[in-house]
Amino acid sequence: MTDYFEVHEHDGAARVAELRLSDPVTTPALVDEVDRGGDPSARSHGIIEDAGSLWPEERELPEGDESTLTVLPHRAFPGGTADEVQESFAVDHPEVEYPNAVVVSPDTAADHAADAYVVSGAPGFVGHGAAFREAIVDIREAIPADSALYLPGAATPKNVAVLAYAGVDLVDPDRAVVKGTQGKYLTNDGEAFLEDLTELPCACPACQRSVEEFDREDCARHNVNALAAELGRVRERIRAGRLRDYVEGQARHEQWLTAAFREFDQQWGYVEERTPVYRTAEITAATEDTMRRVEIQRFAERVTSRYRNRFDNPLVLVPCSARKPYSESQSHGQFHDATQFRAHTVSMTSPIGVVPQELELTYPAQHYDSVVTGRWSAEEKQFVSTILRQYLERNEYPRVIAHVPGEGYRDICERVEESLDVEFEYTVEDHPTTTESLANLSSTLSGELKFSKREREHNTVRAIADYQFGPGAGDDLFGDISTQSRYPKLRVHDDGGEQLAAMVPQYGVLAFTLAGARRWVDSDAATKRVEIDGFTPHGSVLAPGVLNADDDIRVGDEVVIEGPAAFAVGRAQMTGPEMAESTRGIACSVRHVDEK
Ligand SMILES: [Zn+2]
Repeated sequence: MTDYFEVHEHDGAARVAELRLSDPVTTPALVDEVDRGGDPSARSHGIIEDAGSLWPEERELPEGDESTLTVLPHRAFPGGTADEVQESFAVDHPEVEYPNAVVVSPDTAADHAADAYVVSGAPGFVGHGAAFREAIVDIREAIPADSALYLPGAATPKNVAVLAYAGVDLVDPDRAVVKGTQGKYLTNDGEAFLEDLTELPCACPACQRSVEEFDREDCARHNVNALAAELGRVRERIRAGRLRDYVEGQARHEQWLTAAFREFDQQWGYVEERTPVYRTAEITAATEDTMRRVEIQRFAERVTSRYRNRFDNPLVLVPCSARKPYSESQSHGQFHDATQFRAHTVSMTSPIGVVPQELELTYPAQHYDSVVTGRWSAEEKQFVSTILRQYLERNEYPRVIAHVPGEGYRDICERVEESLDVEFEYTVEDHPTTTESLANLSSTLSGELKFSKREREHNTVRAIADYQFGPGAGDDLFGDISTQSRYPKLRVHDDGGEQLAAMVPQYGVLAFTLAGARRWVDSDAATKRVEIDGFTPHGSVLAPGVLNADDDIRVGDEVVIEGPAAFAVGRAQMTGPEMAESTRGIACSVRHVDEK
């Protein structure tokens, strides 16, 4: 039971949460021991009451209260201590009524029903990408989702964004203070010796003096201020769903930080589970690391393993446009005028890969912004050609027409053409939007039949269903349908006229009605289920009401919510494991409910 910690916002493994003390603390936060002397700015973060180590003496269980987070008596071990030794000295943690934290090591972390877990041995792994990833993942996966992870003795203004990105909720000012007393001035991009500074590159209260008057005590105060300011930036980034964009840039200031977040990209399961299936935030594709983020990899994976082309027409490959959705751009308007519903259009793009026309609204296809230079790196070419090859291995077309410019796009097409032994027809002279190129595209398609608006709309619904619910779901769920209203606000009805789903244009996904949810449950498509207690949910289901939830539920997924008293459909606000483990917070929002 974690009564005093509630997660409000997720951004990958990072979260904004509330430590519910009598004076609540919003995390990721800087915290310190209550009555530590010295620096006033550090003291203002004083909420930690440490009952102390059991090594020198036995300790009484502290009385504790709701104004502080009490660290229960503990025995910490130096990194590398044998498991048997750690186990034989393990501490029994009694259940207490006040906010409490338990000290754990990466080797021995387990659920102790605490509100927070204090990680010992940070110096052993902070500074090493792989060891850091391993330690944080081991602990995070051993403790409940709705408990705080406190990593003392490690944070600096430079590394704290990566610490939060990995899933750390609480840090202390110790390292920043120590560095200050050593005369090291910290900023979020590095550190400098005080004597090397010509001016103070900061406007915090501690820096309101000349560099000559600025002493090591001021430096310690500044370092803590800089850490607190960086944490504010991190919290805002998490709220906006944009911490990853920041970390890709911020981590560049030190090798181990870059290594650390790349390590997390390799740890697919840990980050994937914690990344929503869609969100409003834009993705800034400014570095090659963007290709490895979950949102991009997930889209590529789903397009190449779930999506299936249902058109009989030729394929036309076109370059992406800066404007999203692509069809609203000027260039795609011109391509459309030339193809006239006689071809299935698929856009090639870095860093997404390939985007079939039916998925141009589906997150993140209209939610990214990349640096447009016209030049492709070797890694981008590799990435997009791999996806295009996989796409064409899965989807057969009578003809493949590449209406692409020479730079990069053409190289990729030729590479794929060679590896698949499929012949592409090229229609661009110079540039895709010149009159000659567009005329070429149009005449290449002469004699090809047009697909109807109905076919286009039905195939869009089915393609989104495949993408969202798994291979075959489109035919399984929406084999016999009619569509109403105008694209992209399509409403999907069954052949009896009952509405099954609606398309959400903002994210290019489908939202079920109750009839649609029932059809989903009866279909072969894998349903995502949340089992609730005997109540009728209205508006939302809170975590304590959840008895069980499928492990593969991600934030944003459609879910069927069922219990003895109700059948409902809605959207997940937590992952399945979080719903099952959490004792606070909204598990899912409810769209429609039927009382039983
Ligand atoms: Zn300052």
